[in-house]
Amino acid sequence: MTLTRRYLDHNATSPLHPVAREALCASYGPALNPSSVHGEGRYARKLVEDAREQLAAAIGCFPREIIFCGSATEANATILRSCPGPVLVSAIEHASVMRAIPSAQVIPVTAEGVVNLVALESMLAKISQPCLVSVMFANNETGILQPLKDVTALARQYGAKVHTDAVQAFGKHPLTIAELEVDYVTLSAHKAGGPVGVAALVVRQGVPGIEPLLKGGGQEFNQRAGTENVPAIVAWAALAENLEHLLMHQRELGKWRDAFEAELLAACPQAKVIGRGAPRLSNTTCLSMPGVKAETQTIAFDLEGIAVSAGSACTSGKVGRSHVLSAMSLPGEIAETAIRISSGWNTVEEDYRSLLRIWQKIYAKALANRAADIHNQHAA
Ligand code: PLP
Repeated sequence: MTLTRRYLDHNATSPLHPVAREALCASYGPALNPSSVHGEGRYARKLVEDAREQLAAAIGCFPREIIFCGSATEANATILRSCPGPVLVSAIEHASVMRAIPSAQVIPVTAEGVVNLVALESMLAKISQPCLVSVMFANNETGILQPLKDVTALARQYGAKVHTDAVQAFGKHPLTIAELEVDYVTLSAHKAGGPVGVAALVVRQGVPGIEPLLKGGGQEFNQRAGTENVPAIVAWAALAENLEHLLMHQRELGKWRDAFEAELLAACPQAKVIGRGAPRLSNTTCLSMPGVKAETQTIAFDLEGIAVSAGSACTSGKVGRSHVLSAMSLPGEIAETAIRISSGWNTVEEDYRSLLRIWQKIYAKALANRAADIHNQHAA
């Protein structure tokens, strides 16, 4: 009997959505360099500009504000390294923000996992030159949404610019860039069913421009050199045209996720869902199984056919203590036993049901092993 695989690690990456796959396959093959002046090049240029318009319409910004790049890591590094003054980043940012510049000042977060506005204000008050504040839209480990409007309001009082890494929001949470009132936004395609290899830095009209990270050709309005990944851009735009469908499915995910968490906590009140009371992405659960290390759990789930992750899985299989959960001052025994479950466009209700059964099975086995160990110790 073959094991049904159930993929619940969409915050790491999603399988390619059929809409994106179709657009990707349709545009792979021809010579597509939008900088070439011949017919083939002009065709490629049209594909990119049409895609820019589609994406802009879906996310609520002007096409000219979108700079396509190769990854969210690149977009984050570009904006953080562009700022001539001090840079403030929240303590729960993705490593691509935390490590973009060594001099970044870290804004603490509260025990609820949101940026500490009192601390932010006192940090801003000590800075006398223009600076940049970078606070993510939604955290990739807990799904907790950040109070961006409050962050922006504070930053404005002190003349600071605001960047948000909204990588986990695209296709998972309603997002209209014009309403966010921030200056710079990072977006990515592959966490919601788009292809890997394309992301965007949105630079709002009228704000200071960026210093290109990659210099060379004049692509992307001289802001990001390198031949555009035309098929990936086209595929992302096709997916963006289906954003409403993706978001409708997210609402279903939210219902299944909430039912899963409620049933699990009723059966095992010792378990802990991190950020359960906070506004969160509807696809994410950060869940501690008492006494069972996160790595042990991910292996056990994998053997049962379920893909989940221990903390942030961005560093090729490396599992370390989560800086996000540490920043929330969670006790070590919770942080070390918390896994991330993140659903997406191809998740069905049965995935959550199966997850519940297997979670209980793994926990029951861990309790039995522990009881046997204690028995053996007493017998020895
Ligand atoms: N920002 C956030 C919030 C993420 O979750 C990730 C990846 O997990 C990134 C940035 C980096 O994305 P990429 O590895 O595609 O560059």
